[in-house]
Amino acid sequence: MKSVKHVVIILVLLGTAPSKLVWAQSGKESVANIKRPVSKDLNKFYIGNKKPLQPLSFIKLPVGSIKPQGWVLKYLELQRDGLTGKLGDISAWLDKKNNAWFSGNGKGDHGWEEVPYWLKGYGNLGYVLKDEKIITETKLWLDKVFESQEADGYFGPRIVENEHQDNKGNTPDLWPNMLMLWCMQSYYEYSNDTRVIPFMTKYFKWQLTVPDEKLLKIYWENSRGGDNLYSIYWLYNRTGEKWLLDLANKIHRNTADWTQKNNLPNWHNVNIAQCFREPATYYMQTKDSSFLNATYNDFYLVRTLYGQVPGGMFGADENARKGFDDPRQAVETCGIVEQMASDEILTGITGDPMWADHCEDVAFNTYPAAVMPDFKGLRYLTAPNMVVSDSRNHAPGIQNEGPFLMMNPFSSRCCQHNHSMGWPYYAEHLWMATPDNGIVAMLYSSSEVSAKVGNGNMVTLKQTTHYPFDENIRIEVNTTIAVNFPLYLRIPNWCSNAKLMVNGVDQSMPFEAGSYARIERKWKQADVVELVLPMKLKKDTWDKNKNSVSINYGPLTFSLKIDESYKQMDSKKSAIGDSKWQKNTDQSKWPSYEIYPASMWNYGLVLNEQPLESQFEIIKGSWPENNFPFTQDDVPLILKAKGKIIPEWILDKNGLCDVLPQSPVTVSTKEQLIELIPMGAARLRIASFPVVK
Ligand SMILES: [Zn+2]
Repeated sequence: MKSVKHVVIILVLLGTAPSKLVWAQSGKESVANIKRPVSKDLNKFYIGNKKPLQPLSFIKLPVGSIKPQGWVLKYLELQRDGLTGKLGDISAWLDKKNNAWFSGNGKGDHGWEEVPYWLKGYGNLGYVLKDEKIITETKLWLDKVFESQEADGYFGPRIVENEHQDNKGNTPDLWPNMLMLWCMQSYYEYSNDTRVIPFMTKYFKWQLTVPDEKLLKIYWENSRGGDNLYSIYWLYNRTGEKWLLDLANKIHRNTADWTQKNNLPNWHNVNIAQCFREPATYYMQTKDSSFLNATYNDFYLVRTLYGQVPGGMFGADENARKGFDDPRQAVETCGIVEQMASDEILTGITGDPMWADHCEDVAFNTYPAAVMPDFKGLRYLTAPNMVVSDSRNHAPGIQNEGPFLMMNPFSSRCCQHNHSMGWPYYAEHLWMATPDNGIVAMLYSSSEVSAKVGNGNMVTLKQTTHYPFDENIRIEVNTTIAVNFPLYLRIPNWCSNAKLMVNGVDQSMPFEAGSYARIERKWKQADVVELVLPMKLKKDTWDKNKNSVSINYGPLTFSLKIDESYKQMDSKKSAIGDSKWQKNTDQSKWPSYEIYPASMWNYGLVLNEQPLESQFEIIKGSWPENNFPFTQDDVPLILKAKGKIIPEWILDKNGLCDVLPQSPVTVSTKEQLIELIPMGAARLRIASFPVVK
């Protein structure tokens, strides 16, 4: 029976942000298309922001609520069996012997960022996978951190001087402690261990005693005070102690100024990806929209100057440098995972779906290429146009001198430890709680979420999809009794004409790109929601980078398929100078690799004014049996295109692919059929193409 729909358009003002609501009612559903969730209420079951903080738009569910499946689960398993899970056997910084993070009194070696960098993701990996071995190991470390707390509240090593510091003051470097606080927050969400809240309270009381002139004065802690600020709000939301908001003001005023107009306090890639969110974090307290705008401004400033490239990141191969903005410029693996974490947090603060879109962009198109397919090695730097991944020195083409482009499990000290949070944090944000006691499917992946909704009933929602390699998403409801709650579905900004069915009945409406579908109804056992996010070919033109182009299909961006030749190397001999490993580590079990092109890479695309569908052939393959789509062999989606070799476009004197030629490029070479693959599956890649005539 055809249902009758009454569609009305209502314009409402929520706070200061205008929000358009389109309602359709049919039978038992009310379906709405909204720009942002209504955020004046607080979710009854999950801890959001306590007054007077600005309420969150979406609330992170406690770690463990979401069971990832599909390729996200596969990635976590690869991490467990690969570098993240086994790093304790390799890295000298994770050797427990005489370790300042494991001595229980802060004394010893290796007391800086490496242990907490690793533990932050490693612990969450354990909580997400419910892996007892990892959880037990995490607790061993955390027990020692609890033990290290001193009478004044300080915990962990007191590093007042090392090679990373330009300040010889007496206040310890608080940067590694910021990381350890995040470890504690996740641990608390998982365990409710009653030691965590008093531990953090006591530490923050100590921070309150540090005079401003001695607080956060060292480069890294000064840049990254936003992480400290976030932890203060986390604790405030659990204790409501008002002095924490005074401390938050103090931390903000002693953190580098990320609110400058058209400028940043520094241009280090990791700092940018991590610290641009500091003003938006502080906005939760001030409710002054200029802070929120500062975060958006920083994001767009960096993308305008250095991010005219595909894959969501920007060129800053250590620091962003004037004149180095071609897509051959790279970004650190630390920068990639920090950007993903920032996007996830900003989704919660703002409700703006563009942050979730951006997180997917980086997660699908950039992060997978930064690690080996078996997750047993990674590289420091990855770029959108990267045709060699070797151990030679490419400076000054990239800023660093040394073997920064090869895959090496013994090398790239910060990324070696910090990579660990990338996929665990991502998995924790697939679903979020909404202020109106519902659930939002935020980042799409096969998964199950169990959460309290409506009046407090626990429901489980099971999502099945091969997204982003497929446009169909199916969600099945599992509940013991019928329960009323809103289910939100993110409509990505690249998507028009999304289709929605509830129990087989079409509920589609003109869903705006970059919005949410909100379905409120009395959900019962085995209800099924089907969402189709139609994917289309789309061309991005980078006019500031020689009119080059990138080809997208839905959220995926495509690279030239370059045959990759892997050359095994000795991991110890080819490591970056500051690498350290444990005495008995066997490098033959942990090989490093150089990757060389075994086919031509210097193609331009042949394009005309006709629709892209007539110029590319989309070939969909079967889903890989191993559930892992990010390799050249198994990627289930390829494009056939036409290209021509550009003979003059070769390696430059530093061994990098030369700066893009200005498009359109006139060549006399003959047209060939070429294959493009998703750039996440391409460890050698050309993803910004010249256009040839
Ligand atoms: Zn790094």
